[in-house]
Amino acid sequence: MEKRIAIIRGDGIGPEIMAQAQIVLDAVCEKFGHHFIYEEAPMGGNAVDAFGVPLPQSSLDTCLSCDAALLSAIGGPKWDSIEPSIRPEKGLLALRGGMGLYANLRPAQLFSQLADACPLRTDIAEKGIDFVVVRELIGGAYFGEHKTWTQENGETAASDLMIYREHEIRRILKVGFETAMKRRKKLCSVDKANVLDSSKLWRKLAKEIAAEYPEVELSHMYVDNCAMQLVRDPSQFDVIVTENLFGDILSDEASQITGSIGMLPSSSQGEGTRGLYEPIHGSAPDIAGKDLANPIGMILAAAMMLRYSLDMPAEADAIESAVSKVLESGLRTGDIMAPGMTQVGCKAMGQAIAEAI
Ligand code: NAD
Repeated sequence: MEKRIAIIRGDGIGPEIMAQAQIVLDAVCEKFGHHFIYEEAPMGGNAVDAFGVPLPQSSLDTCLSCDAALLSAIGGPKWDSIEPSIRPEKGLLALRGGMGLYANLRPAQLFSQLADACPLRTDIAEKGIDFVVVRELIGGAYFGEHKTWTQENGETAASDLMIYREHEIRRILKVGFETAMKRRKKLCSVDKANVLDSSKLWRKLAKEIAAEYPEVELSHMYVDNCAMQLVRDPSQFDVIVTENLFGDILSDEASQITGSIGMLPSSSQGEGTRGLYEPIHGSAPDIAGKDLANPIGMILAAAMMLRYSLDMPAEADAIESAVSKVLESGLRTGDIMAPGMTQVGCKAMGQAIAEAI
């Protein structure tokens, strides 16, 4: 199969980890007989330097014309003090908006080989951690009206409007159900329906849409309970779907319980199958250009792209099991190094994973 992939190399360690993801994708092409065409889409600090803006229109057009976009990470101290409207992260926001990405998927997976990095008790970690948080990305309290005003009595008050329209809830719930269909078919819808009207509507629609997915086992959980269950027994979750503010907090909690920042991918999706795939970490300027970066989060983001945008589940499985195999063999980058293991650089890690495909 031939597919076009937009490549956003980014800043800092970005180009190093992207190169490894491409080596792994090339190995997938060879094994499964596919042909991937890579289209460069400069974004971030490097685009500010070259074009004066963090997201040139041509890069957005490239992303919109490809089957999926792969992003490493952007930003760095060099651009910290430039004019705020052209800072690298503005490019990322513009890209998400321009691609209409309303769903953020963040897998939380603990590789058994890295169990020592898990901050939870061993008996909890041993039950396994492997779930996805599906977070609504462009609605709710972050996008409602924000106001600060002085009341008649002179006291300052502030409010943030949390508004959800039916279509916004329906489309993210559908992403939740579809994600569950591609996994173990268990969906936990997280809300605060005992207090919030937006959550009551959310829960009503979740029950309604469940009729379209009879194979998916749907449960409901209040967000405060979910925060507790994530550290009490994360093995109970397969897919969690929730609104923007709750998802922001729960997805960070979820990534923390799995250990290293260098290991986790994420994806953002909108209508259709086109999505943006990236590791959860930043551009790590402190280790850029030293062959020290862990490319696994980036490589697993490529696996997510194969599964969710390119409908290549076997190919995604091949990458994920290659990562497991390489970790099993004892290879580690510096950030996940442990006694008795063999430390390698970014390139050697990417190469080993490609060879294991
Ligand atoms: P960071 O995630 O870049 O780094 C935090 C720490 O984790 C650093 O010590 C770094 O060396 C380490 N680290 C991160 N990724 C690693 C990897 N793959 N392998 C090994 N170690 C890794 O966060 P930060 O230092 O707060 O931010 C650095 C820059 O990245 C900033 O300019 C920030 O704005 C930007 N940033 C970009 C994104 C994005 O592109 N989506 C996200 C977060 C931060």
